[in-house]
Amino acid sequence: MKRVENKVVLVTGGALGIGRETCILLAQEGATVAVTDVLDKEGKLLAEEINYSGGVAKFWHLDVSDEKEVERVFAHVVKEFGKLDATVNNAGIAGADKPTHELTEKEWDTVMNVNVKGVFFCTKHAIAHMKQSGGGSIVNLSSIYGLVGAGDIPPYHASKGAVRLMSKNDALIYAKDNIRVNSVHPGFIWTPLVEDFGKNSPGFRENLDSLHPIGHIGEPIDIAYGILYLISDESKFVTGSELVIDGGYTCK
Ligand code: NAP
Repeated sequence: MKRVENKVVLVTGGALGIGRETCILLAQEGATVAVTDVLDKEGKLLAEEINYSGGVAKFWHLDVSDEKEVERVFAHVVKEFGKLDATVNNAGIAGADKPTHELTEKEWDTVMNVNVKGVFFCTKHAIAHMKQSGGGSIVNLSSIYGLVGAGDIPPYHASKGAVRLMSKNDALIYAKDNIRVNSVHPGFIWTPLVEDFGKNSPGFRENLDSLHPIGHIGEPIDIAYGILYLISDESKFVTGSELVIDGGYTCK
């Protein structure tokens, strides 16, 4: 028996980075995967790759900040695959890197719309389907920036702090429905998001490596394994917890 055999999982922001690796690992471990993202070409290619390797996946275009689209895509996924067991709220953006007093309202809202409202909408529209399945698991991608300050990207810190507590509160609300909600807090992971963030800073990668006591930043698969655990029944007694996967970044 594979670790998430027969589970239907929807992953947001699934085309690249942590989401992409998560989709691949979940499919290898027996899940049927709804890959969703705003990047159609990359998402479709990933679904094809998974199907070609013997897994089951389909791509849907989904902008998590659009509630109507969220509602429609969740309904389509359930129609296609028959149920919904888990949702990985992974889509996220870094946003403007300016001190708080220089930020515009628009820059603030851009990050909140994806990182916070996106998690809200995808949780809201997952719940009814999960109740129908008799329970489920929601995994929310927060960050080390949802636990400690780093002195940069203020809206991102605010958004990831919000996701941490939304997870705990939803864990309380839905425990009676057998729906578990947990947050995952990655350290720096080499993905397009981080690569893009540091593209104009010489020595960026080396500097990031040095921030992690383990000596280097992480890989998407390090996070995907944590998400796999939280979706699997191995974590059936785990809800409202924060799984920190950060090479020791937050130990100090
Ligand atoms: P990534 O490489 O940028 O991948 C995220 C995916 O989400 C991209 O395909 C992105 O498309 C997509 N996306 C952006 N806005 C979206 C929207 N409104 N609706 C749906 N999809 C959207 O990011 P990642 O590094 O894998 O990060 C995944 C999650 O982990 C994020 O929530 C991030 O905050 C969190 N995290 C990452 C790190 C890290 O070091 N990488 C650390 C801590 C937490 P575009 O490329 O077009 O934006």
